[in-house]
Amino acid sequence: MMPRNRRTWLWVLLLILLAVLMASLVWLVGRYEQTRFEDQLELSANDLASDIRAKLARDAQRLQALVEREAPNWQRTARVLLQQQPEMLRIERRNLAFKIETLGNSAFLPRLSKEGIFEYFGRHNFATDVAHACALAARSLEPAYSNSYFVPQGNGTGFEVMDMCMPTVENNHLTGYLVATYSLDRMLKEWSESSIKRQEEVSLLEADGARLAMIGNSNRSGNKFAAQTVLNLPGMTIILRIERWRSAPYWLANTPTALALALVLALLAVLWLLYRDTRKRIRTEAKLAREIIQQRKAEEVSRQSLERLQKSARLATLGEMASMLSHELNQPLAAIASYATGSLNLLPSDASSQPSTQNLYELKIALERIASQSARAGQVIKSVHGFVRRRETERSFVEPAVLLDAVLPLIGLQAKQLGVRIDQQIEPHLPRVWCDATLVEQVIINLARNGMQAMDSSATPPPQRRLTLVAKSCPSEREGEPPLVEFQISDRGPGLTQDVSQRLFTPFFTTKDEGMGLGLSLCRTVIEQHASSLIYTTQTEPPRTGTTFSFKLMTDHEPHHDHTL
Ligand code: ADP
Repeated sequence: MMPRNRRTWLWVLLLILLAVLMASLVWLVGRYEQTRFEDQLELSANDLASDIRAKLARDAQRLQALVEREAPNWQRTARVLLQQQPEMLRIERRNLAFKIETLGNSAFLPRLSKEGIFEYFGRHNFATDVAHACALAARSLEPAYSNSYFVPQGNGTGFEVMDMCMPTVENNHLTGYLVATYSLDRMLKEWSESSIKRQEEVSLLEADGARLAMIGNSNRSGNKFAAQTVLNLPGMTIILRIERWRSAPYWLANTPTALALALVLALLAVLWLLYRDTRKRIRTEAKLAREIIQQRKAEEVSRQSLERLQKSARLATLGEMASMLSHELNQPLAAIASYATGSLNLLPSDASSQPSTQNLYELKIALERIASQSARAGQVIKSVHGFVRRRETERSFVEPAVLLDAVLPLIGLQAKQLGVRIDQQIEPHLPRVWCDATLVEQVIINLARNGMQAMDSSATPPPQRRLTLVAKSCPSEREGEPPLVEFQISDRGPGLTQDVSQRLFTPFFTTKDEGMGLGLSLCRTVIEQHASSLIYTTQTEPPRTGTTFSFKLMTDHEPHHDHTL
């Protein structure tokens, strides 16, 4: 598993990366939106500018018509024109000497005197601007425009106006001029009010940025976007500017940005779920690992205690063995000693004399007996050695007869001492059993020893003291499974009383002076380790058939045929 610290860092890194990613996404979408918005604004500025140019051109045509066709009714037609076009404040007809011949003033002005807007501040004050435009018009024979100028009205207000000068031509000769004065404010109002949107401001600016006219009543809050375009007219240059205010943050304003934002939120939610899930999984894993470790520890402890028990039981057995062994070895050793003494006696005491032929023959027999007695003693010691040797638990397939043969010398020792006869009933061709041979041998020895001790301490008369060892095949309880081999160890002792039966497998329960009370509990553990169980049947009432302990072991499936037999 990854160390906790590193995991936390990875999560933090992931979060940071995602946050950066999301922020850039929102920023990019916002930027895109902003550009789109600005482009739109620029487009409307351009539209508006060309609209204004077109309207001015149309006015010029109308004035042209006024000169050409309506000359006799000039005054009347000019009045109608001024009424139709509120942005036009005055129309003058001037001769070549630039003197005003006739004029008409807008009907929309508050004061209707002959001078119109120039009543307070005379027309001559602005002669240069008009002259400038007309000079250009005379040169090009096209309408030309003056720079804008302010005409005060004496009450602090005034009009920002510009003049359009149109040359009148007859037979290719310049005959005079028609001058129309436009109010910039009204121009905007009449021509663009219908097309501008809420929160928009349209203004006309001088090249240096000074504002000349403006319409639109926006509440100036939120972000400001602006676009401007140059309104080029012959003789004058003016800037048209549109400003739009947006109160909502631009990145919340429409679908793409809202979508990006929703995406961010969804991603964060998924991330959170993922984080929660991972944490849960890690916790479960850690818990599981802890449980497994605890279980392993418990197993280790139980294995160790089993080994300790086995060891102490083995030592207990050993104590008894030692006494039996000394008893058993006593005989051959005594025999060897007496043969040796006898042999010495047969040899002449004097080194120079020869032993007789008869003596030599007897000496040979004595030495042969010494040899055979030593071999017997060696056999006894060897059988104990095999049992005492300690080795690691290991399982293999073993023939049942081999198991019993291995324990027989040891059991035989005690049987002889207690006057017990041993019967072996081994079914032929038994399959091999899967077991730890050393442990199972020990079980058989323990059970046999218990049986023999039971017959010794009871009133079983010596001729009836019989221990039966049985190995036979028996079918498995589960259908289709291979057969098992059952081992039985039966004695003809007094059987188990109810009290003893109840505590039979309790460790340290014993009825014997020298007993440890561990044998049976150990036997049961070993048998259970072999996926089997230790069973007993007992008979306390006469006729006494004693007690039988039995267990079954698994086989290697096929019955084993020993072809060497
Ligand atoms: P130990 O042999 O050291 O006493 P065990 O656990 O082998 O310990 O046996 C426990 C007790 O069970 C014995 O003390 C004995 O009273 C009783 N017992 C065991 N096997 C037999 C048997 N075959 N017949 C009668 N009693 C038995």
